[in-house]
Amino acid sequence: MFNKKTIEDINVRNKKVLVRVDYNVPLDNELNIIDDTRIKLSLPTINYLIENNAKIILMSHLGRPKGEIENRFRLDPAAKKLSQLTGKEVKKFDRIFSQEIKEYIDNEMDYGEIVMLENLRFDPREKANDIEFSKSLASLADIYVDDAFGAAHRAHASVAGVTKYLPAVAGFLMKKEIEVLTSLLESPQRPFLTILGGSKVSDKIKVIRNLLGKVDSLILGGGMTYTFLKAQGYEIGKSICEDTQIDFAKEMFTLAKKNNVNLILPVDIVVAKEFDGDAEKKLVSVQSMPVDWMGMDIGDKSIELFKKEISRARTIFWNGPVGVFEWTNFTNGTKSIANAIAESQAVTVAGGGDTLAALKKYNLSSKFSHVSSGGGAAMELLEGKELPGVVSLLIK
Ligand code: AMP
Repeated sequence: MFNKKTIEDINVRNKKVLVRVDYNVPLDNELNIIDDTRIKLSLPTINYLIENNAKIILMSHLGRPKGEIENRFRLDPAAKKLSQLTGKEVKKFDRIFSQEIKEYIDNEMDYGEIVMLENLRFDPREKANDIEFSKSLASLADIYVDDAFGAAHRAHASVAGVTKYLPAVAGFLMKKEIEVLTSLLESPQRPFLTILGGSKVSDKIKVIRNLLGKVDSLILGGGMTYTFLKAQGYEIGKSICEDTQIDFAKEMFTLAKKNNVNLILPVDIVVAKEFDGDAEKKLVSVQSMPVDWMGMDIGDKSIELFKKEISRARTIFWNGPVGVFEWTNFTNGTKSIANAIAESQAVTVAGGGDTLAALKKYNLSSKFSHVSSGGGAAMELLEGKELPGVVSLLIK
């Protein structure tokens, strides 16, 4: 249950409202926004504030500047895009905080207008969760709204620090993300199936462990499968493998058994001679992986096996491609699984950067019940962790 106050539980009318958004959007070399999804996702909160005649002060990070100004990471493209989307001028400052900015907001800015501060990560105090920096940000407004789910797992000044100095509530995106993801953990419709892929086991250890106490079935695909297959004694050839995680994999087979979870691995694999999109390939069973080849995608029998499980499930969470989906020769597994989930009648939730990229590639995003905007934040939540950006909000 989401027990935090939201933007609807506080009077924002004619107030100065500081909104943390996640405008960490991909840019091309000419600084054009390649994908504006994250900006669009903030519109319900921004439009609500416009309707309530608030002064809207937006702040975000973009990219990974190292605590100093880097022109390619300025937020001007995001401000321009937001202006197009709202039909309102968005005044973008070239600094994060200054006395002039504060005076502008207090004395010159009209209610219902939008301003945007510069990239928070141009100042090292943002990541350091610095008290003075947090106080400066807070001094700009009367109320703080956190709508940056993608940054909720970061204890940074604009996420955590600032909440000590202003009444802090959730925006609509934050509320939706937390509600959907916590309902997976707390009250999923059963059977609850999770499909995890991607390259590394070590990134997903905590999620796997926590979900094995929640799901009915867990399918593993992608590069991390081979560590699990090796743990079961299979030859995996030159496939990607984390030998340091073999004991963990063995422990997970035991845990799955203990919790009555159906832990499902691929039964056949598309292997290639080398890690290359045009490499020679062939389909083999997991029992007969050739020594000099490497696993690149799941095979047809695995697809059928996974699809059967997908068709039985009433809740499905998916994170991580089941093959090297970026290459046409090895995209079939991920595409088939994505299509099967999209067609299912279950509650379907996807999360993670590569998973979202795959959904975009196959044009399936709109067919999912929920596509999470925060890869890292979603995974930490599913690990069972409390997120700094959520714990610090006011309780209802
Ligand atoms: P991650 O960043 O851990 O979510 O992993 C995503 C990446 O895993 C994608 O770029 C995929 O290409 C890659 N991947 C999926 N399957 C395999 C595989 N069998 N071997 C190597 N990489 C893979």
